[in-house]
Amino acid sequence: MRFAITSKGDSKSNTLMHKMKSYLLDFNLIYDDEQPDIVISVGGDGTLLYAFHRYSSRLDKTAFVGVHTGHLGFYADWVPEEIEKLVIAIAKTPFQVVEYPLLEVIVRYQNGGRETRYLALNESTVKAVNGTFVMDVEIRGQHFERFRGDGLCLSTPSGSTAYNKALGGAILHPSLPAIQLAEMASINNKVFRTVGSPLVLPAHHACLLKPVNEPDFKITIDHLSLLHKDVKSIQFRVADEKIRFARFRPFPFWKRVHDSFVAD
Ligand code: NAP
Ligand code: MN
Repeated sequence: MRFAITSKGDSKSNTLMHKMKSYLLDFNLIYDDEQPDIVISVGGDGTLLYAFHRYSSRLDKTAFVGVHTGHLGFYADWVPEEIEKLVIAIAKTPFQVVEYPLLEVIVRYQNGGRETRYLALNESTVKAVNGTFVMDVEIRGQHFERFRGDGLCLSTPSGSTAYNKALGGAILHPSLPAIQLAEMASINNKVFRTVGSPLVLPAHHACLLKPVNEPDFKITIDHLSLLHKDVKSIQFRVADEKIRFARFRPFPFWKRVHDSFVAD
C-alpha cells in the first residue's frame, strides 16, 4: 500500500507526521505523495480540505484519514495519542471506506465556450465584488427568486457544520446526497423578497445563479477564493464524485456534532 501524509505545518503536526511516516515505512508501506492509496492529514479540518484538493483528481483511488493536533475536527477525528493504534490499523487491517457527497460547481462566462468546474468538500460561497450582490436563483430550471444581499452559500452535508452553520443552516447527515443553499444577509422588505430559509436540494436538482447586472463575483471553493469576471451563470449540484474516508472504528456523525458543539 502506498501512503502520503500532509501536515498543517506547525511543529506539533510535523513531528507527528515524521513519526507516522517512519512507523509506516517500518511496516513496509511505500511513501508515495503522487499516487497514494491512503492520505493521512495531520492538523485540523482545514488541513484535510487542503489534502482533498491536492488529490481531487484521484478520489476514486484514494482514501483519507485525519489526525487532529488542535481541537476535535469533523474530518480529523483521531488524536495524537492514538497514532500507534492508527498506524497498526493502516498497516495490518483492510479498512472500511465511508463515502461523503461533494458539491460540483460550474462557472460559465459571457464570452461563451469556456467554463470552469470545481469540487468542494465543505462549500462554495458567492459574493459581489462591487456593491450589493444580486442574482436570479433558478432551481431545477425554474425561476425561484431574485436574491439581494451579501451572498449565497452552497454546502455539502459534511460542510454543513462549517460556514453553513454560522449562516443558520441545518446540519445534514453526510449519508444524504444533498446540497444546502443558505442566505447571507438577504435584503427583505416590501419591495425585495427571498424565501429566508435554508433550502436542501436532492441530487440532480441543480441550483443556477444568474447575474442581474454586475457580472463579477468572488467565488470561494472551501478555503480557495477566486475573482471571476464576466460570469454568465454558476451551477451547483451534488457531484458524481465522492470523497472516501478510511474508517478503522465507528465514530458516529451525531457524536462528533455533540462533542464539537454541545459538550465534550
Ligand atoms: P479557517 O478560518 O481556519 O476555518 C474556520 C473554522 O472552520 C476552523 O475552526 C475549521 O477547523 C473549521 N471547519 C472547517 N471545516 C469544517 C467542517 N466541515 N465542520 C466544522 N468545522 C469546520 O479556514 P480553513 O481551515 O481553511 O477552513 C476553510 C473553511 O472555513 C471554509 O470551508 C468554511 O467552511 C469556513 N469558514 C467559516 C466561516 C464562518 O463560520 N463564518 C467564514 C469563512 C470560512 P480547523 O481549525 O480544524 O481547521
Ligand atoms: Mn483551519
